Amino acid sequence: MELSLLFWLLLPIAASSGWLAAKRSLSRQSEHNARHLSSNYLQGLNYLLNEQPDKAIDIFIKLIDVDSETVETHLALGVLFRRRGEVNRAIRIHQNLVVRSSLNPQQRALALLELAQDYQRAGLLDRAEHLFLELIENGHYRNFSCHQLLDIYQQEHDWSKAVDVALQLMDYSGENMNPVIAQYYCEQADQLRRQQQVEQAHKKIHQALKIDPACVRASLLEGQLALDNCQPLQAIHAFQRVEQQDALFLSEAIEPLQHCYREDGRMDEFARYLQRILQAYGGITPMLVLARLIHEQTDASAALQFVVRQLRERPSLRGLDHFIDISLPGAEGDAKENLLLLKDITSQLLKNRPIYKCRECGFTGKTLYWQCPSCKLWNTVKPIQGIEGE
Ligand SMILES: [Zn+2]
Repeated sequence: MELSLLFWLLLPIAASSGWLAAKRSLSRQSEHNARHLSSNYLQGLNYLLNEQPDKAIDIFIKLIDVDSETVETHLALGVLFRRRGEVNRAIRIHQNLVVRSSLNPQQRALALLELAQDYQRAGLLDRAEHLFLELIENGHYRNFSCHQLLDIYQQEHDWSKAVDVALQLMDYSGENMNPVIAQYYCEQADQLRRQQQVEQAHKKIHQALKIDPACVRASLLEGQLALDNCQPLQAIHAFQRVEQQDALFLSEAIEPLQHCYREDGRMDEFARYLQRILQAYGGITPMLVLARLIHEQTDASAALQFVVRQLRERPSLRGLDHFIDISLPGAEGDAKENLLLLKDITSQLLKNRPIYKCRECGFTGKTLYWQCPSCKLWNTVKPIQGIEGE
């Protein structure tokens, strides 16, 4: 059993048996109550220590009637059960607490807060939501309750409620929620795009960009939406905005940009764009796309020369893999065998290599998540840089 809980459980016994209240003059009746409380407490404690929690809870709940000073003990006991995953027991204790009329407003608020967390843990999200809203309305634990509500609305994909609460939280705490709110708008935009509600999707994208002009996801969504609707010029405009927002995400914009420029028949302009990007930021994706373009517009040897030059400047696994791809058709005999062996190695390395990494918790994967699946933070997962990445 946790020491802190043991402290809370023993405190009432200590108080009633005179350790802490030696100078308190008790009437005969209260002396009787104290002895009664003390023996009941010891019995409850005994049940708890002997792993008979339900019998212990029965006794502790009866004791609330005897003495409201034991509220802290009940709160601590409830928290302990929740931490041990025994949520139903925690709920029973906290539910019994909140209905007591003897609780002062602070005690009641704390009991409600614990009960709300029990419900949340038990997956009873609507009940948890209701209690957190009540706490906020009464001015108790507003920041914490807002964060818990955000968790609930995110789980339920209720993005519009999430926006409202995040705005409220910004008011209460001054915490900058703008980048997160922009992601909520993007979630809505993405959903609307899939339902082909183009105009509504555009509205949400603009709301995202208004509240967070650096929202890369909004630009990528705007580009995709324009591409869906055969508007390559608008798409180019949106995808190119990523450069100013966060150049680390350029790799996400380059492939769709290639598609746009091709649709629009402006591949020379695209090649110049890639050269500029490559010079300014490096990056393997623009290099590989440019190499393929050189191959397409000139020949394999020009593409090979370009890749070799780039590999000397910026060694990378994907660059090496592409170098082997271009070299293989012209190779014969042992040279070809060696290249095939190398290709096998680079393919294996690339197959197991994550592409994205969370800057906060280190989670890695091959999918770009705007909310990290591990630490649940937004905007922390980015393309991996360096020899094995971009
Ligand atoms: Zn993370």
